Amino acid sequence: MERTLVLLKPDCVQRRLMGGVISRFEDKGLNIIGMKMLRVTPELAKRHYAEHVQKNWYPGLEAFITSAPIVAMAVEGPEAIRVVREMVGATNGLKATAGTIRGDFSSSRQMNLVHASDGPESAERELAIFFDENDICEYTPMMTPALRADDE
Ligand code: ADP
Ligand code: MG
Repeated sequence: MERTLVLLKPDCVQRRLMGGVISRFEDKGLNIIGMKMLRVTPELAKRHYAEHVQKNWYPGLEAFITSAPIVAMAVEGPEAIRVVREMVGATNGLKATAGTIRGDFSSSRQMNLVHASDGPESAERELAIFFDENDICEYTPMMTPALRADDE
């Protein structure tokens, strides 16, 4: 089992796409074990996007990510980090494959609806930014036997 961080970005909230995007993760069989709505501050943006702070497009990204509330989710499942990244699709919505969230709903490289951690180290680092261990509500979904074989 892996845990990954998903953010529904301000464009997702503003466009009333939260429910549809959350449904995709639920329909896949992933387990949402943490969820909160919050407003990202410039300080939080710099911490979350530390690897991008020096980029020339970072000021635009910060203005965007702080422009409206976001929803942070801790998502759990087998190979969840890779599975969620593939469901989200390529960064630029114009290039993302149809069938991915960005491919279906985004026409922008900045306003691409969803953030997802890109590997185990970033998942651990990013989950710790948005969630205390006490915020995580782990449970065993009753439908698990209908989703996967026992040895999977
Ligand atoms: P991803 O979210 O696919 O992991 P990156 O980590 O490369 O993408 O970038 C983080 C976020 O910064 C992107 O999701 C997007 O919102 C924004 N972004 C990336 N590249 C650009 C760019 N060239 N111009 C403006 N915004 C960008
Ligand atoms: Mg990234």
